[in-house]
Amino acid sequence: MKSYAKMSSLYAPTLKEDPAEAELASHRLLLRAGMIRREAAGLYSYLPLAWRSLMKIEGVIREEMEDIGAQEMLTPILTDAELWHQSGRWDAYGPELMRIKDRHDHEYALGPTHEETYTDLVRNELSSYKQLPVTLYHIQDKFRDERRPRFGLMRSREFIMKDGYSFSADQESLQRCYDDESRAYANVMRRCGLWCLPVAADTGQIGGSTSIEFMAIADAGEAELVYCDKCGYAADTEAATAPISLEDGEPGELEKVETPGCSTIADLAAFLGVPEGATRKALALMDGDGRPVVVFVPGDHEMNDVKASHAFGDYHLMSDEELEQTGLVKGFIGPIGLPEGVRACFDQSLKGSVWWAVGANEAGYHYVHAKLGRDLTIADDAWVDVISAKAGDLCPTCGEPLKLARGIECGQVFQLGTKYSEPMGATFMDVDGKEKPLVMGCYGIGVSRMLAAIVEQHHDEHGITWPVCVAPYEVEVVPLTVGDEVVWPVADRVARELVAAGVEVVVDDRKERPGVKFNDADLMGFPYQVVCGKKAIANGKVEVKVRATGEREEVAIEEVAKFLA
Ligand code: ATP
Ligand code: MG
Ligand code: MG
Ligand code: MG
Repeated sequence: MKSYAKMSSLYAPTLKEDPAEAELASHRLLLRAGMIRREAAGLYSYLPLAWRSLMKIEGVIREEMEDIGAQEMLTPILTDAELWHQSGRWDAYGPELMRIKDRHDHEYALGPTHEETYTDLVRNELSSYKQLPVTLYHIQDKFRDERRPRFGLMRSREFIMKDGYSFSADQESLQRCYDDESRAYANVMRRCGLWCLPVAADTGQIGGSTSIEFMAIADAGEAELVYCDKCGYAADTEAATAPISLEDGEPGELEKVETPGCSTIADLAAFLGVPEGATRKALALMDGDGRPVVVFVPGDHEMNDVKASHAFGDYHLMSDEELEQTGLVKGFIGPIGLPEGVRACFDQSLKGSVWWAVGANEAGYHYVHAKLGRDLTIADDAWVDVISAKAGDLCPTCGEPLKLARGIECGQVFQLGTKYSEPMGATFMDVDGKEKPLVMGCYGIGVSRMLAAIVEQHHDEHGITWPVCVAPYEVEVVPLTVGDEVVWPVADRVARELVAAGVEVVVDDRKERPGVKFNDADLMGFPYQVVCGKKAIANGKVEVKVRATGEREEVAIEEVAKFLA
């Protein structure tokens, strides 16, 4: 017979004070509520309460995967370097890939994602079109040596990911797998209480052609989005800076404009309406490959803000001497690690080529495609393309004004095509008797990051306000006194009846003052609190408080289980 949990023995060491290292609400509250503990930079232990929530998130993922016919399995975390050489990513992945050697000097990587492993797994087994499509996934710890692990579970070096891989015979089948996964991902986010927007995304390190990111809207997010409440249109401003989307010239989003009177970047900045004194103003220039090279910040500027801006990547703030060397207008910053000095970089990259410029301010983003002269003057035949997807603009699909928001990337789906199957020789015999590479998709959810995102979206000044579906426990019973003849037996009875009704209950059986119990209850944030006090009990009642709204209601003792179940 199941019983209720007791706060007195729960391993959830709460903190009274805000931990100094925690900037974000999720990081602070997960630490304070005794849910996570830091082991080393970017390494966290999930204590029992966090683990319960994580298991619930995983449960939702498993149900949704089952629904679309994806099969769960498990591969080793260690991946053979040989596979990474075959795909070409041993070198391409860079320092984020954690590499180790065994006692025989054989090299391995701690998997940051498992395309190679899965491609290797199926390449000798899926040999006929008759066996396709197949979608496999696992939920496992992943390792990435992030340059800046931070914000607790948000960007850690070891984290829990659900990653899945689909193998199809053709693009049409891949599209079906991809659409199924995308729908399942939207369901996962919604069922876990996350307000997420599906956003067309850049394909980054994993590669491939088509991708959607699932972005939880939160100020703490590192990504910047424009979106529309009404029709669900959303775009990642980072993806929108990729030249490819400009070259493709999405109709309705690009607008060719004259740049009257602009002969310098400063003119251009003024033309773009980058306001003086605004903190988030910047004009970034990229070379023809979309590689950011220079950021121009006119007037007084908040460099840290620009440096931290995810949209612009990593920049080195030029010293005054460096600035002088360039002979350029004050306010330029260049990329980290200029090989032969700043001047060389400018000389090399400013050969009158086509440049990409991004102007940002609080009102939104302007993506500008400008042809610039060597001395940063705008060439005679210059033009500027402006993407109209910025805050306040009218949404391309429904005509409503767009809003600007920040988002936390909780999941991403990719169409990989034959990016891995081709170099790794994962082929099958098609219906026409020809040997072809498998057409692949890959699908990832940041399970532990989702936990942080949920807290970002569900908290107030007193603590976490868990949505029921992912709460570590659904109900906390709070007897105001313990071990007495009146209150304790009622608390015990209510808790037992709730458990019998299938509710997950924790009882605060500690001999603490009511104030301490209330504070902890609000901090841990279980969705419902059942407060058992002498006065109400004298009337045959207890008080039920809804944590998220603060609503309270007196409920007859014998009705509580029915009321909450
Ligand atoms: P980011 O842009 O935040 O670095 P990513 O695009 O590199 O993430 P993916 O390769 O798409 O990440 O991995 C799938 C999911 O894993 C991401 O959508 C995210 O939710 C999660 N994730 C990635 N890196 C981390 C990390 N360092 N800590 C926690 N979760 C992560
Ligand atoms: Mg990353
Ligand atoms: Mg990303
Ligand atoms: Mg991603």
